[in-house]
Amino acid sequence: RESITSRRQRTFAMIKPDAVGKLGEILDVIEGREFEITQMKMVRLTQSQAAAFYREHEGRKFFEALLEYMTSGPVVAMELTGQDAVSRWRATLGPTDSSVARTDTPNSIRALFGTDKQANAAHGSDSELSATREIEFFFPSSKVVDELLPQTTAIL
Ligand code: ADP
Ligand code: MG
Repeated sequence: RESITSRRQRTFAMIKPDAVGKLGEILDVIEGREFEITQMKMVRLTQSQAAAFYREHEGRKFFEALLEYMTSGPVVAMELTGQDAVSRWRATLGPTDSSVARTDTPNSIRALFGTDKQANAAHGSDSELSATREIEFFFPSSKVVDELLPQTTAIL
């Protein structure tokens, strides 16, 4: 049941190219903090897909470097479900800059597995609205499959 203090919610998480080699350790952290992995896939982003995903940052001085980084290898996209998943996953990540994370939140994913302010191991949605958009970006609901009706009567 929903309440003001705790809500079952979905968020979007992504293991970035620099941390895919640490996938097992990161999954251990995710499971230890009681998130359910409700969807997951490994993909390689194109430049235009990375630009679309990070369109809010278009024009920032780090944008081109961000696209290079995000297309440098595979990423692992996940839908995480759990109590207050959006804010809890952001807290589990730690601050954007991994160096700051090592000082402020030494057990966070960015502290443990990230390198600097760009190569910071993982992504997390910053709001429920972003989570909805980002989950749909990586896990589009398929109309084709939705329209396939189950066979409910005996054929033979
Ligand atoms: P967050 O991922 O913590 O929400 P932002 O949305 O501000 O951070 O930025 C998106 C991503 O762009 C960051 O996770 C990081 O990989 C990269 N980035 C952000 N700021 C910088 C920066 N100043 N220099 C290089 N890369 C950056
Ligand atoms: Mg962000």
